[in-house]
Amino acid sequence: MGKILCPKCRSKKVYLLSNGKRKCSQCKYEFTPHRLPLHLTRDQWREIIRWFLLEQSSQNISLRTGFERKSVLRTLTYVRTSLMKDVPEIFSGTVEVDETYLGGQWKNKRRLIRDQGSKRGRSTKKQPVFGILCRNGMVWAEVVDDVGSETLQPLISKKVSAGSIVCLDTWKAYNGIASRGYVNRLVNHGEKQYSDGKGNHNNGLEGFWGYLKRKLVSEGGIQREKIPLYLGEYVWR
Ligand SMILES: [Zn+2]
Repeated sequence: MGKILCPKCRSKKVYLLSNGKRKCSQCKYEFTPHRLPLHLTRDQWREIIRWFLLEQSSQNISLRTGFERKSVLRTLTYVRTSLMKDVPEIFSGTVEVDETYLGGQWKNKRRLIRDQGSKRGRSTKKQPVFGILCRNGMVWAEVVDDVGSETLQPLISKKVSAGSIVCLDTWKAYNGIASRGYVNRLVNHGEKQYSDGKGNHNNGLEGFWGYLKRKLVSEGGIQREKIPLYLGEYVWR
């Protein structure tokens, strides 16, 4: 990246003057490029953010702007990191917990990749992801090895403060969390009744799972350690 565009005519034919300013060889405009984070100019930021707001994949943004994909990814990571700062460490109050399965398979146990069929002769394994959502819409999720109670209950203990109301379905992994200091509220998945009658909780995590799956497809895979970044983006959106 690092290409400086003329702010007037957006020409790329810009040269450096001896006084440190830039001059456009097309329209002769002289200007000082503003250096923003990641050494991008205001215009470059504006361009990438514009496509980010439209939920374009890094590949699409790269194609449309002409920036290298690596640079676009670095920029989006910067944006997502900023958005992530609002996601709390510990959830309390009324929270919903649920798990989903992402299609595809693990590659090197580190990268979720798109379902590529049986091309490699490997069986396609669905990857479980466990999530927690609280009333104000904040979400936390993590890729898990399985959805057994030994795996999920410690996560709940770690992320949800004792005394919280935990809305969950009847799945067996969650049995016994009442004995760990939580108020247990069973919900019926089929009826999607996550709320306590006020209706503002319906489909909460379902919405996030759908979002994560779309992102996964559009990005051609999301690294496990980057999931928190996408949570930040989701919460913000
Ligand atoms: Zn110009």
